[in-house]
Order: sequence, then C-alpha cells, then structure tokens
Amino acid sequence: MFSFSELVAATDDFSFARRLGEGGFGPVYKGVLPDGQQVAVKRLARHSGQGLEEFMNEITLIAELQHSNLVRLLGCCIQGEEKILIYEYLTNTSLDAFLFDSTRVYLLDWQRRINIIEGIAQGLLYLHKYSRVRIIHRDLKASNILLDESMKPKISDFGMARIFGQDESRANTKRVVGTYGYMSPEYAMNGIFSEKSDVYSFGVLLLEIVSGRKNTVFVSSTNLSLIELEHAADRPTMSEVISMLTSDVMFLPDPKQPAFYVSKSESGSSQAEIRSDRGSSNCVSITVMEPR
Ligand code: AMP
Repeated sequence: MFSFSELVAATDDFSFARRLGEGGFGPVYKGVLPDGQQVAVKRLARHSGQGLEEFMNEITLIAELQHSNLVRLLGCCIQGEEKILIYEYLTNTSLDAFLFDSTRVYLLDWQRRINIIEGIAQGLLYLHKYSRVRIIHRDLKASNILLDESMKPKISDFGMARIFGQDESRANTKRVVGTYGYMSPEYAMNGIFSEKSDVYSFGVLLLEIVSGRKNTVFVSSTNLSLIELEHAADRPTMSEVISMLTSDVMFLPDPKQPAFYVSKSESGSSQAEIRSDRGSSNCVSITVMEPR
C-alpha cells in the first residue's frame, strides 16, 4: 500500500508535465519514488466509467500473475475518495504511440514487430493456460500493450479481465465491455466470451502490427472489413498461434467462407449478415457501439 502523500511527492502533485496518457480508468502519471525507482501512477477519475469494481478486479487478478510479458503491479493506494494503482514504468509507453504515429512507426522494423507479436502471444498463452487462475483479458488492444526500453511488450489493463473455471469453456454477460473494433462478433452481438474472444482481439492486433493501420480503416477492394472475417470455431488457440509463430513450416488450411459481414448505412446503423451454415445467410440489425 502507498499513502496518498507519497504519490503526491512522486508525481509533483500529479502535475500535467508528468502525464503519460489517459485510459478508461483515468489519467496516468510518471512518478519517481524516494529510492529513484520510476513508476506509472494510474489515478481513478471521479467521472470514470470504470469504478471500484474494475479497480478491485485489477488488484486481485494481477496480484496472481507473474510473467515477463505482463505489466507488473507494484501496489495501490485507497485513501478517502482516491483510488490509485502503481505499476512498473515502461519507458516506451504503449504500442499505439508507435504503430499509428507517422514518424515513430519507422522504428518498428520487421524483427521488432515479430518480437512484439510473439511477446503478446506468450503473455496471452500464460493467461489462458499457464497462470494459477485461467484468465480472459477481454480488452486486448494496441493501447493496452506497453513497451519497455528494449521494446519488449507487456500486456496491461486487467480492469475488464475475468477468471475462468478450468472446465468453463465460455460465459455469457449482459454487460458487454471492451473496445469496438477488437470485440469478436459473438461477444459484441450476444455477450458470449471465451478464450476465443481474446484470440479474435489478438488477430486484429496482429493485422494492425503487420499493416501499421488501425482496425477501423481495414477495408478491402470488396468493401469487406478484414475484422469481420473471423469465426470463433475457425480461430486457433493461443498454443496453436505460438506453434505457427515459432515453426518454419506450417500447414495452413484453405480459407473458408466469411462467417460474418457488416455493412454500414449512412444513418450509422449496421446490417449484419451471418452465414450460420456457411451457405445460407440471415440478416439482422445491430447497434454500433462507440469506442471509448
Ligand atoms: P491505460 O489507462 O492503461 O490505457 O493507460 C493510458 C496510457 O498511459 C497508456 O496508453 C500509456 O501511454 C500510459 N501508461 C499506462 N501505464 C503505463 C506504464 N506502466 N508505463 C508507462 N506508460 C504507461
């Protein structure tokens, strides 16, 4: 536990000059502890949609985890109205700051990109398979991948993560949380989440890392957005992804019919076409969710 006054001292009273960024939780500041250690200080904003529940979720979940591709939580502060999380500081902040920046993107050569992809895959495999509790992250995206001084990736932000029982294969929620563009169709439309929803987000992230483009601007010549071509059953597990990334020779099955297709009308509503048996198709309307 950190005291509020320790964090005031570490961040120059949460000065604007120390701000590293802002996520759904609130602003993040760079801090320096009395022993010289650099830290990232995440202060829950009063207006934050993510409240005490996500705060406690982050603390209890991340305390169970230890992997070099996951950001390390050093402690927290709960004092009066203040709720603050303290993490190891990662010099190169987040992946989106490189990938979508016209100057910094040139620092991401192919070797760095493959290292980042492999690191994220290892972190995710650990969450799904090798950690003490099985975890679905549910909000994997470029801004939640932090980079250390050697550009090693670390998955952050466990506010939305869920523990899964060993024999649980999927769960249903009425409260769909996450980020539009990275959410699997079955999760966005029916609230069904599983390891495969993380695999979907990983796939979107992988396309972004390889292409350097945001998922929202992926439109091919047939006007079909690439992120709408995935089907939960066709997605690999993270073990298979690691095997694909680390093998020189890999058998790839022929691509199948897209499972899902969305076209947007000018009013902003979407027509979704779902091919349930890969032959016939149904059309349904869905509500478009706004990014946070
Ligand atoms: P988040 O609320 O986790 O989305 O964080 C918002 C932004 O703050 C991120 O996109 C990063 O730019 C920055 N940030 C968060 N955590 C850290 C950290 N541990 N080290 C350095 N920068 C961070």
